[in-house]
Amino acid sequence: MRENTACIMNFGCQMNEYESLTVTKMLDKAGYELISSVDQAELVIFNTCTVRDNADEKIWNRLSSLVPQKRKNKSKKIGIMGCMVEAQREVFLQKHPEIDFLISPVELPQISKVLRDLTARSYEEYSTYELMLDEKAKFPFRTYMPIQTGCNFNCSYCIVPAVKGREVNISPDEIFEKLDSLVSKGVKEITLLGQTINSYTYEDIKFADLLEMTAQRYEGVWIRFLTSHPILFDERIIDVVAKYDNLCSYFHIPSQSGNSRILKAMKRGYTREKYLGLIAKMREIEDVCISTDMICGFPSETEEEFEDSLSMMREIGYETAFMFYYSERKDTPAGKMEDSIPVSVRKDRLARMIDQQLSMQGEVYKKFIGKTYKVLVENNARKGENTLKARNAGNLPVIFEGDKSLIGTFVNVRIDSVTSHTLLGSLQG
Ligand code: SAH
Ligand code: SF4
Repeated sequence: MRENTACIMNFGCQMNEYESLTVTKMLDKAGYELISSVDQAELVIFNTCTVRDNADEKIWNRLSSLVPQKRKNKSKKIGIMGCMVEAQREVFLQKHPEIDFLISPVELPQISKVLRDLTARSYEEYSTYELMLDEKAKFPFRTYMPIQTGCNFNCSYCIVPAVKGREVNISPDEIFEKLDSLVSKGVKEITLLGQTINSYTYEDIKFADLLEMTAQRYEGVWIRFLTSHPILFDERIIDVVAKYDNLCSYFHIPSQSGNSRILKAMKRGYTREKYLGLIAKMREIEDVCISTDMICGFPSETEEEFEDSLSMMREIGYETAFMFYYSERKDTPAGKMEDSIPVSVRKDRLARMIDQQLSMQGEVYKKFIGKTYKVLVENNARKGENTLKARNAGNLPVIFEGDKSLIGTFVNVRIDSVTSHTLLGSLQG
């Protein structure tokens, strides 16, 4: 173990990534050297996720090898933050009473005090932190900006409302205060975050208004947003995205299933037809990219109902899909449903869905060949070579030859060919 070192290991969604970066910055300022080895670090923090059971499993495995190290070395400290703490605080206390602190998402603002008591160092208040925008950050030119926390929906499979609490929207003043400072430091891309971001409302400002205000205020900076919910989707959002060049033409709008009976059992609040109508309107934007999350093997899902998901995915031709097999979460309505599908069938359906999506993606991407797109360069694609990786407005990876001095800048790339995951192109002068 090395003294004065800290390591934060992140699991889960972009919101967790944002929170981990914020805590990383606090630790940096408190004098810790940030390292990536949980074995070597004096202070280890796991930022946990509990949306699906494989995330839980990873954390229990890590802890069972890490906690015994505390017996050998008393100065090693281990803390847990994130959604698993809210859902399973008692289990942590029983399994690993040696853990130094547990902080749930709603308790997060107290982390400065908890760390101060534990390590006898001083920490700035959590809420005042900006993201790490220096050479230590992976992509210092890109930032997440939570504008909404919690969720007011009640999808029957989902643990999020129970662990994150009710929806809270942040005021435009507070959002712009943070973003002004980040943009002045050179941020080129902002991703606004919320579980159902299109439901954002602050006084009389709706999400479409906030998007328009953001686009006008940060001309030349790319703006993305995640995650859209298909109900309460104000079509003005599509019009605003079409109107402003710096609003990326990309929608992450999970359908979860392509069958209306399953959607009802999931309490999603829309039908297949309604969802398809919304997607058709989005497709009116030239070269728009659309992505989804899908769940396979929800309780009582028949083979035919699963095939409805496959057919809907073919019909839409999603540019990207995040696919999961259903995982029971205790304390959710679906977790108590009786007609569960065997895990082997869920996994088999997931494998078929992934196969279909990957074999389709290459075909879907062919429409981009021959066109030139503005992209934001992320990093070297392969070590030691003159190959760069960038993303286009649709959030798709674009690979091309170029010098690493272009990292963090916008360039134009013509797409020459595609694979099932990537667009391959050449730099344009
Ligand atoms: N707020 C977002 C989703 C947040 S959770 C929305 O409504 O779309 C991220 C994704 O995890 C979900 O879209 C869903 O596909 C998946 N997920 C959530 N709970 C799950 C469960 N119990 N089993 C499997 N996948 C789940
Ligand atoms: Fe979960 Fe549904 Fe809320 Fe998304 S909208 S976080 S899936 S309850």
